[in-house]
Amino acid sequence: MKFKDLGLCEEILSAINNIGYKEPTEIQKKVIPNILVGRDLLGCAQTGTGKTGSFIIPLIEILNSGKSKSRMPRSLILAPTRELAMQVSEEFNKINQFLNLHMALLIGGTSFAEQETKLSKGVDVLIATPGRLLDHITRGKVIIKDIKLLVIDEADRMLDMGFIPDIIKINKLLPKIRQTLFFSATLSNEIRNVGKDLLINPKEIRINPYSSISENIDSTFIRTNGKNKMSDLKKLLYIDRITSAVIFCNKKTDIDKVSQFLKKNNYNTVSLHGDMDQNLRIKSLEKFKDKSAEMLIASDVAARGIDIDGLSHVFNYDVPKNPEDYVHRIGRTGRAGKRGKAYTLFDDYDNKTIISIEKLIKKKIYKTTFENIISSRESPYQNKPPIKEKNKKKHTTFLPPEENYLNFRESGKIPDFLNKK
Ligand code: AMP
Repeated sequence: MKFKDLGLCEEILSAINNIGYKEPTEIQKKVIPNILVGRDLLGCAQTGTGKTGSFIIPLIEILNSGKSKSRMPRSLILAPTRELAMQVSEEFNKINQFLNLHMALLIGGTSFAEQETKLSKGVDVLIATPGRLLDHITRGKVIIKDIKLLVIDEADRMLDMGFIPDIIKINKLLPKIRQTLFFSATLSNEIRNVGKDLLINPKEIRINPYSSISENIDSTFIRTNGKNKMSDLKKLLYIDRITSAVIFCNKKTDIDKVSQFLKKNNYNTVSLHGDMDQNLRIKSLEKFKDKSAEMLIASDVAARGIDIDGLSHVFNYDVPKNPEDYVHRIGRTGRAGKRGKAYTLFDDYDNKTIISIEKLIKKKIYKTTFENIISSRESPYQNKPPIKEKNKKKHTTFLPPEENYLNFRESGKIPDFLNKK
């Protein structure tokens, strides 16, 4: 099936062509025709599958015929985090590039005034986090009784973050006759119950159950101990010559520590965690996305659903306490058909959590030591493209002279410079 077989208008097809999507992903093939015929949908899919496009493309197709009224948006997309809402808005802007639908983004930390001006001019698509939307409703700046299409994205995260009461409040203000699309990475009974109140006779579509990990990700657990963690991380970054990665930490204090350590080693890093204000979070993400920062050091909540093109590596400085977060974390790589690597540092205290991760993903986790990784490699740099001039400069004081790593490749032993803690 090709995009042109889906009955989309020329402007959307040209936009898709311009973005470079060659054919619909599995979820898009299944979801788009159902949305176009007006069905409610209960979609079980992870990010990284093309899920956002699967609802944005038909939503734009449906809204393309029609006009919005002042303060009364025609469709509403609810997302659990500001970052996810922004990503949805980016996908909207891409697909809408040859059309003239109007969109407003209501997320915390951004100016009320600017969004209110947009709303008063009339918007077709309103993308919002639940709390911020309720603020605007209470202030009388937006009326949602004209919503024809409602999308709830990452419903399971909404549940985790305590947003369900807000969703219930919002639902009471929405018209009963509408189309509702409900997406969640898991379909627990609790989530189904939330869905029941919102959906009418939905079509259920499941893609890659949440517990599965993309075939495109090579995941390795490396035994380490608390004392050596930081230097082991540095070695790993060095041996794969990593120039762009997300490093997850469980604790905010570790995010700061890792960030300072890597900065000392001449890496350009940015952080992302829940205690940061919205503007700083947006700046961090932008810097990482435009490659002016090489490493993003992040917590789970802040990094939920974030999509970064071509991310080759994810590091777990700690084993996440919640097994589902492990699936989410490593799912930042190996996306859209590309290969990715994930390294997780662990010690004996993590054994219980590792067992629950194994249960969730229904697979035994491959565990090794740092020394094994070194000795099993024929050459750590085999088939790697030459390092870019720009990156070379940044790393000069961190990377040892060329002959050092040549010796390292030949002997297969960890050289002294790597053993220094
Ligand atoms: P999502 O699941 O929405 O987070 O999407 C993951 C990534 O897949 C994003 O970078 C999208 O731009 C990309 N993507 C979405 N649809 C397609 C497609 N049909 N072909 C290739 N990439 C896509």
